[in-house]
Amino acid sequence: MKIIDAHIHFSSINSFKKTGDNYSKVDYSEDGLLKEFEKTNVVLGIAMGVTETNQQGFPSNDAQTPMGIDLNAPIPKNIVYCPGVNPYTLSQESLKILEKEVQKDNVVGIKIYLGYYPFYAYDDVYKPVYEIAAKYGLPVVFHTGDTYSERGLLKYSHPLTLDEVAVFNRDVSFVMAHLGDPWVLDGAEVVYKNANMYADLSGWVVGTKETIDAHLQTNFFDHIKHAITFCDHYDKLLFGTDWPLVPIQAYVDLIKRFVPEQYHEDVFYNNACKVFPKIKPIIGD
Ligand SMILES: [Zn+2]
Repeated sequence: MKIIDAHIHFSSINSFKKTGDNYSKVDYSEDGLLKEFEKTNVVLGIAMGVTETNQQGFPSNDAQTPMGIDLNAPIPKNIVYCPGVNPYTLSQESLKILEKEVQKDNVVGIKIYLGYYPFYAYDDVYKPVYEIAAKYGLPVVFHTGDTYSERGLLKYSHPLTLDEVAVFNRDVSFVMAHLGDPWVLDGAEVVYKNANMYADLSGWVVGTKETIDAHLQTNFFDHIKHAITFCDHYDKLLFGTDWPLVPIQAYVDLIKRFVPEQYHEDVFYNNACKVFPKIKPIIGD
């Protein structure tokens, strides 16, 4: 089965390097990623653009919008990306740059970091971003749920706050990253209720295959299983890993357990093609 990983990272971020070294034991480099892609039959990875500045680790309040992917150059052909928005550096000028950026062939969506930045999805600050998304037919991906930084503020990343943005921007498709974990039942309801809301299944584990196996012996994933079943929309859930948080093969095997087999091709491949219309010519499908 061909796989699209709808949520990876490919940015030079200190905490990602440390995660690869200390927790997931993945080689956080272009070479390391492409080797994992080959082993797992991942034909395309969608990277979430993010950068950090020397003054401050991610989330950096002074990072320029749009935030790109800067782990290595040039960007490999089987990696596309969603430039990240820092609401503190949104201006007429940076919006113009963002609009130019989304017209590149390998830019397939836009990423907003709820919780990392203390603004709700429905805050007026993001309005011009949704206008750009609508104009170019691109989805907006939201970080939702737990933040991978103590400096995050969780009330802004709660998945229920996405309902309002879905209702008032019916001409834009949205992807709720991580299904709002740990508030996945709320996330599932927002996906279930709104035709323009999708979710990726990434980032539920930081660690190795052994970490996953240990969790499988406990109730750790019970809320996830409940939410996926309740959502009952295998046409709207996208496989993603949040690499480098976890090795790709171990996470593929995990998600296969939660999704009935007849929906594997949708969740691992077809749904991503539907939500990110620009990827089809890239994968030649
Ligand atoms: Zn991520």
